[in-house]
Amino acid sequence: MSHYHFDTLKIRAAYDPALHNQAVSPPIYQTTAYEFKDTKNADGLFALTDPGFLYTRVNNPTVDILERRIAELDGGSAALALASGMAAISYTLLTLAEGGGRILTSPYLYGGSTDAFQRIFPNFGIHFDLSAAVIDNPSELEKDIKPDTKAIFVESIGNPTGAIADLEAIAEVAHSHGIPLVVDNTFATPYLLNPIQYGADIVIYSATKALNGHGNLIAGLIVETGKFPWDNGKFPQLQKPEYVLRDRSTGEKRSFLEAVPQAPFVTRIRLTYLNYFGAALGPFDAYLTLIGVETLSERLQKQVENAKKVVAYLQKNEHVAWIQYSGLESSKYYQLGRKYFPKGVPGIFSFGFKGTIEESEAFLNAIKLWSYHVNVGDARSLIVNSPKTTHSELTPEEQKQAAIESNLIRLSLGLEDPQDLIADLDQAFAASQRV
Ligand SMILES: *Cc1c(COP(=O)(O)O)cnc(C)c1O
Repeated sequence: MSHYHFDTLKIRAAYDPALHNQAVSPPIYQTTAYEFKDTKNADGLFALTDPGFLYTRVNNPTVDILERRIAELDGGSAALALASGMAAISYTLLTLAEGGGRILTSPYLYGGSTDAFQRIFPNFGIHFDLSAAVIDNPSELEKDIKPDTKAIFVESIGNPTGAIADLEAIAEVAHSHGIPLVVDNTFATPYLLNPIQYGADIVIYSATKALNGHGNLIAGLIVETGKFPWDNGKFPQLQKPEYVLRDRSTGEKRSFLEAVPQAPFVTRIRLTYLNYFGAALGPFDAYLTLIGVETLSERLQKQVENAKKVVAYLQKNEHVAWIQYSGLESSKYYQLGRKYFPKGVPGIFSFGFKGTIEESEAFLNAIKLWSYHVNVGDARSLIVNSPKTTHSELTPEEQKQAAIESNLIRLSLGLEDPQDLIADLDQAFAASQRV
C-alpha cells in the first residue's frame, strides 16, 4: 500500500514505451500497424514471446499507457481497454461462461446490462440469475450458486438506487465455489474504491463516465488481479493450448495461463474476443481518457462534496418524496458506505418527485444549469428521469424488481458551484407549481 492519500504518481506510472525519458503528455500513436524488425521478430510478436505491438485492433502504445495506468490505480496486474463499457462487460462474461453457463448477479444494475443479460446472452447459452440476496443478504447467496455458475457480477454501487455491494462477503462466497467476483466499478472509479482490495478478481469500467469525466467519448476497461486460480477445473478455456499462441516454427501450442501467467484473462480476451469481434478503443480516445484521469481525484472529491450539499437542500424540500443516497444515516446502505467509501459515496443519487407527472415534467423542463441527458460522472451536473430514459428498456416488472419508482429523478453531480446548482433546482421546483 502506498502512503499517499491517492497515489498521483501512479497516474504517471506507465510511460511511452518508445522514449527513454517520458513525454509530459502521452503521445498519440495514430497508427494502424507496426514495423516488424525482421521475420524472427514477427514470429515472436505473434506468439507473445517478444514484447511489442501487432495491430491497433489488438494493441496500441497510447492505449497501452491507459491500460497500465488503470491497472496501477486499481492494484491489478493488467488491464485491457475497449471501445465501450458494454464491450468490457460482454467480453468478460462471454469469456467466463464460454460455451454456456450461468452468471449470478443482482437486479440493481445499469439498464443496458440488465437488458443485454435478458435479451441477447441467452442466445449464446449464457443465463443470468438475478438475486436480490447478492446485495441485500450475501450470507444467503450460497443457495443461488448452481453447478454451472461461472461468476458473480455486481456493481460496487448500483444505478440509480445507490445499493452498495458488500464485496468482501460476496467474494468469500464466490471463492468458496471456485468462481471469480466481477465488479463493475464505473461510478466509484479507482479514486473512491479499489474492489481488488476487497476480493474482486476482475474489475470493469465504463470509462465513458467518471474515469474520463468530460462527456466526449465512449470507452471501457477490464482489470484483472493475476491471482485467480484459473486452473481449478472450471475454466478450461484459459488452460487449453491455443492455436493463436502457437510457435510459428515448431507449431507447438501454449495456453494463456502458460504464456502470460500474470494476465491470462485479459490477454485471452485481447487475442480472441477483441481480435475477432473487434471493439477496439482508438488511440485518440485513449489519449482523451488519459487526460481525464489526470484530474480524477479532484473531480471525484468535488462531486462527492457537491452531492452532500444538494442532498442537504433536498432533505428540506417539500416537493421531495424520498432520497436514495447512501451517504444518509437513514439509508440502509449507510454502514456499507462508510466501510467501502471512506472518502465519501459517489455524487450520483436519486430522489422521488412529490407531485403529478405534469408537475414533474414542468420541473425538468424548467431546469437550466443542470444538463438533461443520460450520462453520469461528468464534469457537468446531470439530471434525468431514469424510468423514462436510462431504464426505459426494462419492463414495468423489471423496473419494480430493480427498485426504480416511477417518480424517480437521478442526479449526477458535476463541478459547478453548489449554490448555483441549488438555486437552479429551487427555481425549477417553483416553476413546477405554476402548471
Ligand atoms: C454506462 C455504464 C455502462 C456501459 O458503458 P458504455 O461505455 O456506455 O458502453 C456499464 N456499467 C455502468 C455502471 C454504466 O454506468
